[in-house]
Amino acid sequence: MSAALESFAPRRDEPIFGRLAIIGIGLIGSSIARAAKELNLAGRIVLSDRDEAVRLRARELDLGHEIAETAAEAVREADHIILCVPVGACGAVAAEIAASLKPGAILSDVGSVKNAVVEAVSPHVPDGVHLVPAHPVAGTENSGPDAGFPSLFLNRWCILTPPEGTDAAATAATRHFWEGMGALVEVMTAQHHDLVLAITSHLPHLIAYNIVGTAEDLEAVTQSEVIKFSAGGFRDFTRIAASDPTMWRDVFLHNKDAVLEMLGRFSEDLSILTRAIRFGDGETLHKHFTRTRAIRRGIIALGQEKPETEKLRKS
Ligand code: NAP
Repeated sequence: MSAALESFAPRRDEPIFGRLAIIGIGLIGSSIARAAKELNLAGRIVLSDRDEAVRLRARELDLGHEIAETAAEAVREADHIILCVPVGACGAVAAEIAASLKPGAILSDVGSVKNAVVEAVSPHVPDGVHLVPAHPVAGTENSGPDAGFPSLFLNRWCILTPPEGTDAAATAATRHFWEGMGALVEVMTAQHHDLVLAITSHLPHLIAYNIVGTAEDLEAVTQSEVIKFSAGGFRDFTRIAASDPTMWRDVFLHNKDAVLEMLGRFSEDLSILTRAIRFGDGETLHKHFTRTRAIRRGIIALGQEKPETEKLRKS
């Protein structure tokens, strides 16, 4: 076990759940499997993926304790089930496993959008099964079972959005599980989650996809120049714009209203900066850039990012 993981998230003597089922063995599903196994958060971990090649790779990587051929088989007798598939697939997977869920089980997910997932999954949740949606605000631009690692959630937020009236013990057990992987847990409504994430994650991804696309389309600047001089801010956008296309297509299709609201505000603010540049209004630009610096310092102060100088010293 890595020293960092062990110091922040010690291995448990007793597991939290007897049987954990993970559906979708990508970056997030395989990271949960790795962390839960290393930290003894579940007595038995069963994984499944619709893709046979992924199931084969998961066996080679020794992820969890068992790889099931189907999602329905994986969730049988499971105490905690986590859907780790793209947002747009959650409803169909919930329908597929519904009849196999045992009473008292907790059904969760990791989708980056919450309201649409709750709406798609809720109709399939049998009586006696508790729905506790979750979103770990942690990730990388890589996908698939090889991309995961057990310390992915360490010191990162995980937001739980239990619908009104959810069993308190089910929410507490889900919180306990994520804290067991080293995550910081916060509870809010699905609607509020979608609004917050629209500005902190979804809009930045849209901007990154757009700016990298624009640079690729430029004729006056060759592609080799874009790559060669990428350190000037562009490089960070290329990392974000390399994120999984299926996952991000689903995020924008399922958080449409909140993203459009934030995009509207963003466009208005961009017009103000455009005007300041056009009319040589340095004061407006300077004031704006001074205000935004404080956000960066706040993120570093909360331990959610290291200062660039420290990163350079380490590399
Ligand atoms: P990923 O690496 O692409 O893995 C998703 C896996 O789910 C793939 O193996 C995919 O198989 C499989 N899958 C798709 N539809 C399925 C279905 N109907 N039944 C069974 N398996 C299915 O994706 P990820 O990054 O782990 O993302 C998974 C979820 O986590 C998404 O909902 C995303 O919003 C959320 N999330 C992602 C991040 C991030 O940074 N990546 C962060 C937080 C939350 P195929 O390859 O055959 O489609």
